[in-house]
Amino acid sequence: MPIIPSPSLTVVGAINVDLTARVERAPGPGETVADGILQRGPGGKGANQAVAAARLGAAVRMVGAVGDDLDGRGVRAQFAAIGVDASGVQTADAATGTALIVVDATGENSIVVCAGANAEIDPTALGIHRGAAVLAQLEVSDAVISAAAEAAGFLALNVAPARPLPPGVLERCDLVIANETEYAQLPEVHDAALLCVTLGADGARLYRRGELVASAAGVATTVRNTVGAGDAFCAALVCGLLRGDEPEAALARACAVGAAAVADDASQPALDLLDTYGDPA
Ligand code: ADP
Repeated sequence: MPIIPSPSLTVVGAINVDLTARVERAPGPGETVADGILQRGPGGKGANQAVAAARLGAAVRMVGAVGDDLDGRGVRAQFAAIGVDASGVQTADAATGTALIVVDATGENSIVVCAGANAEIDPTALGIHRGAAVLAQLEVSDAVISAAAEAAGFLALNVAPARPLPPGVLERCDLVIANETEYAQLPEVHDAALLCVTLGADGARLYRRGELVASAAGVATTVRNTVGAGDAFCAALVCGLLRGDEPEAALARACAVGAAAVADDASQPALDLLDTYGDPA
């Protein structure tokens, strides 16, 4: 068996508590549905990606913010239990971020995010070690993203939810990850140094400066909850590339991890070490 080093990764992003209502059919405007079954669990793209990377075997440091409240203390305890270094998690003067999620019987979801502490991260106190490998998303302020990009030695940016990037950040990205909607909304990322476009059940493609360099088919599975799939995928792709996997192999493993994530009820799915997702060659 080859010995594959575990990558070190700093994840910069949002930390939420997810309040998830499972319903047969999501309500339309002005409509009430009354068959909801409530679940409460940890979420936020930053925390989801940090936890997924740790479960896949990386040494992970989380940078973000929670409130000085019960949810914030719960998040810190969860990070400690999983082995995510939370020394970069600030305590902000706002409630811990909360996402209100509705998941219908097909696994499709709609989400309202209440940013709370995530909007209060102090960009001057991120404490990112210079040259660190950083994975970030767009649920935090431009100032935080810019500061993280400035400090990073390797920068992967998941452009979710889609919005214009702060000036200078795209040029610093070693990897951009977008789903099809984000890809359509952000033409400026199409020529990124390395761009991964995820295609849901159809897998993913990797482009270098707009040229297709790898593609991977989706892995058939039972859809339970699509909320954490993109986040687990991002963590797996970044971990694979950081430890030196070939792009094709890293992409195929990430698709297998994404499929495992949609088959799991939780936004932070149970995952095994990255290598257990098979040799895609
Ligand atoms: P997001 O969840 O961010 O909108 P996608 O829907 O493209 O992004 O999903 C991200 C990845 O998760 C996909 O590239 C794929 O690997 C996996 N995935 C998502 N949905 C499915 C599905 N129905 N079946 C198998 N894999 C899936």
